Amino acid sequence: MERKRIYLASPTMHEWEQKYVQEAFDTNWIAPVGPHVSALEEEMAAYTGAGYAAALSAGTAAIHLAVKLLGIGEGDKVLCSSLTFSASCNPVCYEKAVPVFVDSEPDTWNMSPDALRRALKQHPDAKAVICVHLYGTPAKLDEIMTICEEAGVPLIEDAAESLSATYKGRQTGTFGVFGIYSFNGNKIITTSGGGMLVSKDQEAIARARFLATQARDPARHYQHSQIGYNYRMSNVDAGIGRGQLKSLDLHRHLKQEIYRTYREAFADIREISMNPMNPDGEANNWLSCMTIASACPVTPDQVMDALEAENIESRPIWKPMHLQPVFAGCDFFSHLEEGSVGENIFRRGLCLPSDVKNTKEDMERIIGIVRGVFGK
Ligand SMILES: *Cc1c(COP(=O)(O)O)cnc(C)c1O
Repeated sequence: MERKRIYLASPTMHEWEQKYVQEAFDTNWIAPVGPHVSALEEEMAAYTGAGYAAALSAGTAAIHLAVKLLGIGEGDKVLCSSLTFSASCNPVCYEKAVPVFVDSEPDTWNMSPDALRRALKQHPDAKAVICVHLYGTPAKLDEIMTICEEAGVPLIEDAAESLSATYKGRQTGTFGVFGIYSFNGNKIITTSGGGMLVSKDQEAIARARFLATQARDPARHYQHSQIGYNYRMSNVDAGIGRGQLKSLDLHRHLKQEIYRTYREAFADIREISMNPMNPDGEANNWLSCMTIASACPVTPDQVMDALEAENIESRPIWKPMHLQPVFAGCDFFSHLEEGSVGENIFRRGLCLPSDVKNTKEDMERIIGIVRGVFGK
């Protein structure tokens, strides 16, 4: 008999989600917007300490509106993390701006301050920096903030993967001019699909809501002075989000425990390293990742194949943006002269199953299979 599938990261609902959704049905606030939307915005602003929040249809929409609100347009350069999901930088292209990719450093796998400094020297007219907190590990925010402030360039934090992670006690997503979170199906909490734009700038968030609802001018007739978008979150989805938010800390603790379990289980295998933590922060460990020493003949594909053969989902590290065919013409700033840190992580790494529903037995199965590939 085929064994139960173990997922990389799947939605995990608790008791409150259905109650809030039922409330939306009972009051017929199915759409548009509704009381759960404003409540989720307030609860997210309070949880993160971000100030203000706009609930949107996706994290990608949140990045797009951040780019719009900073007035970024055709030909403008935006410095982006290279080792990330494509949604980090695609919205730059929606506005016909040009992404310039910045490599990772090896300590947290996030944007290299050294490479960022060089990129800014070459592109002093850059209009923004979009920095990701990859797999839920905070970037070196002090260094990156200092560089951005000195250059007078606004920072957008792509905290899609890092909701509830902190840097020096403060939530990721609240350091930049804008921060964004994702509630996509496999993120630490989900609304089935959705996102949030946060900022200390109340007016900017009000403008985001305006642009997200088709940019209707305050007139009885349908009048528009600008191009708008249909980017608002629905009240039903916001109800799910309000329920999920109550379990966010629980999910983080479970994911941190998954990471610790892998780290201890592989401690005796010199060829395996877990994704590094930032000592100045607390990760949410959205996905636990491992890399294999370059001298070791075992490849990430072999580990992923061995897991898949046992009905266990895993996946490659994000392929860096500077290696993507669609961004072939874009400029790239490497951390090291000898080669790209992000590319090395991509070639030597993989994401391990990090579902909060993983049982002790599931973890033992996964660990046993991975150890087996290394002959242990
Ligand atoms: C998931 C993700 C996004 C996009 O969020 P959606 O809600 O799926 O649009 C953006 N950036 C990163 C790093 C992500 O992981």
